[in-house]
Amino acid sequence: MDFEIAPEYQEMRETTRRFVVEVLRPAEKIVEEKQFIDAVMHRELVSEAKRYGVWNAFIPEKWGGAGITDLLPRTLIREELGATSYVLRSYVDNGMFNLDTATEYQRERYLLPALEGEKRSFAGITEPDAGSDNGAMKTTARKEGDEWIINGTKHYISGVDTSDFGVIYAMTDTSKGKHGGIGAFIVEKGMPGFTVGPRQVMMGHRGFNQSVLYFDDCRVPAENMLGDSGGGLRQFLTMIVGARMKVAAEALGAAQYAWDLGVEYAKQREVLGTKLIEKQGIQWMLIDAMIALQGARLLAYEGSWKADQGKDIRVEASMAKLQCTEVAFKVIDTALQVHGGAGYTEDLPLARLLRDMRGARIYEGANELQRYIISKALWGVGQ
Ligand SMILES: Cc1cc2nc3c(=O)[nH]c(=O)nc-3n(C[C@H](O)[C@H](O)[C@H](O)COP(=O)(O)OP(=O)(O)OC[C@H]3O[C@@H](n4cnc5c(N)ncnc54)[C@H](O)[C@@H]3O)c2cc1C
Repeated sequence: MDFEIAPEYQEMRETTRRFVVEVLRPAEKIVEEKQFIDAVMHRELVSEAKRYGVWNAFIPEKWGGAGITDLLPRTLIREELGATSYVLRSYVDNGMFNLDTATEYQRERYLLPALEGEKRSFAGITEPDAGSDNGAMKTTARKEGDEWIINGTKHYISGVDTSDFGVIYAMTDTSKGKHGGIGAFIVEKGMPGFTVGPRQVMMGHRGFNQSVLYFDDCRVPAENMLGDSGGGLRQFLTMIVGARMKVAAEALGAAQYAWDLGVEYAKQREVLGTKLIEKQGIQWMLIDAMIALQGARLLAYEGSWKADQGKDIRVEASMAKLQCTEVAFKVIDTALQVHGGAGYTEDLPLARLLRDMRGARIYEGANELQRYIISKALWGVGQ
């Protein structure tokens, strides 16, 4: 296994690090306080990301991106992005659409404007009675002439307040169930029958807010269906493997950032006449955290490397997502503890990192669901 990356990717990694420190970090406090990225700030961030050359880093060149499509360099670059807030890192890592399978109409009207930063989007699969078990979704879509009529409720959907459109999953054929009976639809805000409900205030992820969505005989043109009427879950599951690797890499970056802060603080803070770093209790906390982090990192790198060899990494993605987010949560907690009261204030980023990482143990599949996926793959059983 070789975890070296090509010099041009290394360069992108370094530019991304600079972009995070110089552009995104100063914006973190504003986002935390306003809990929103307005249109003006959005335009500024898009324009800065383009100026640095990091905008759409992972989008193929034929669609105007920087073309970093291999997973290992993505993972390494995403580690850099983990050191800022979720909503801000989307200014480099924007969109999980498959433009190749979208139609010309869908690309022109929605997906390419989103890639240009002119439109923003969300993705909605979770429902009040269907979270880990997406197959239990109750939202339906039935065909009437040239339209699909969508009925149902989604919740915990991120970024809707600042978006123009989203991809919504709905049951198109209940007799087929999740395998062959779920479709994916592009829904625009303002379409008749689509209402954005109240914001669901969460523990973290400020500025990337969650909302309830209501579909009441919402009429969606037939050309807004992505792929075929039964392939929605397949599309989702293909996307989710990449999304889990993304969460894993970002968790590593968040934890590394917290650990570095912990070490820095321990080197300058004096308690009972010696620096914290000289105390064995603190050394051991930081060293154990470093070893755990490196172990989790190797899982993510191995999974990424295997994907680049053309291997199926569904199990590796679950292992990496689970381990990286669990370890990251503990590492951030350790760094916060080393800071004492200062760590618990909002003056430092540690409280935010801890809150955000708590969410990462739940979204893109709760970590218990990852264990279920792994046990199903190993033994064919699981519940
Ligand atoms: C910050 C945040 C952002 C989100 N953004 C989006 C979004 O943009 N779009 C979207 O569609 N959804 C989004 N979600 C929803 C998220 O994907 C779901 O919360 C998640 O899939 C879990 O579903 P649930 O909340 O219904 O929990 P449930 O499915 O009710 O599970 C509850 C708990 O049961 C346990 N569990 C689940 N399955 C198993 C099992 N097989 N074995 C043992 N234990 C198990 C886990 O501990 C789990 O946490 C977001 C959630 C959060 C927290």
